[in-house]
Amino acid sequence: MSRTAKIVILFIAVIAVGWGVGKYTAPSPSASIEEGASAGAGNDLQAPPSEVPDASAVPSPEPSPVATEAPEASNTGSEPTAAPADKPGNSGAEASREPSPAATVKPSDGDSGTGDPEAELTAAEPDSITVMVNKQYQLPDGYKPADLVYPDVPFIFSEKIEKRMMRKTAAGALEQMFAGAKKDGVYLAGVSAYRSEKTQTTLFNNYVARDGEEKARTYSAVPGHSEHQTGLAIDVSGSDGKCAAESCFGGTKEADWLAAHAAEYGFIIRYPEGKQGITGYMYEPWHIRYVGKDIAEEIAAKGITLEEYYDAVPVSK
Ligand SMILES: [Zn+2]
Repeated sequence: MSRTAKIVILFIAVIAVGWGVGKYTAPSPSASIEEGASAGAGNDLQAPPSEVPDASAVPSPEPSPVATEAPEASNTGSEPTAAPADKPGNSGAEASREPSPAATVKPSDGDSGTGDPEAELTAAEPDSITVMVNKQYQLPDGYKPADLVYPDVPFIFSEKIEKRMMRKTAAGALEQMFAGAKKDGVYLAGVSAYRSEKTQTTLFNNYVARDGEEKARTYSAVPGHSEHQTGLAIDVSGSDGKCAAESCFGGTKEADWLAAHAAEYGFIIRYPEGKQGITGYMYEPWHIRYVGKDIAEEIAAKGITLEEYYDAVPVSK
């Protein structure tokens, strides 16, 4: 082999190695550390980035926003293997190809231990309208939907503020649903829709201060785990604002109407009665979530939850 040929081969080898190294030294998503850092006390929400293949590279902080948390005794021995993906009936045009609670398992479970189901999984497609966010699946740090708009429906307050916003598709469906309700003599109003991670942090910390963390977790989401942060969920009441986001909303004609008709517009009652062991939340007849018509109608017809739809493990606590 000629000297020139050797040099050429060596050159190619160097490039190939360089390319390989560049490819595999993980571009970890840095998200928005600066934003999370500003709000509230002790909210160290920087859970380790989830897509890093090398487990050893990632520390595993306990992502609880509150320092006093006792380790939970629950044993999630069988980790849900990421994506409860391919469900039949996901063919709706809007459903993303890889349906959504597709999640990446954090590499460092085990030593942060305690089997805490929270913070184990990060929704891989937070922008999918079928994303599943619950006590187990969280949104990426600092996630904010890019297409938030103000739906043209009445709210129980008049300010044009954050909690009036929803993602565009959900907002359009909400407008149609409110119009449909009106035709039936039911006058709905929005109570609270989009909520940023920062707002959720403040809210959650206030609840913890008032009721203690264990109780707070039964009715309020840990930041990053709130469905309101997706821009696809909204709390609804009657236009008089009575029983807004309170259990006495159950059994009102507005609640009955929602239970009967929300799915026609692509919404589900996200935390149905008797499903707390699965959703992790007590019955909330006012909290509806946009998932698109196909999935909403299937879920309503079967009387199941989004977790069951995806065959995800129950969120027991
Ligand atoms: Zn809600």
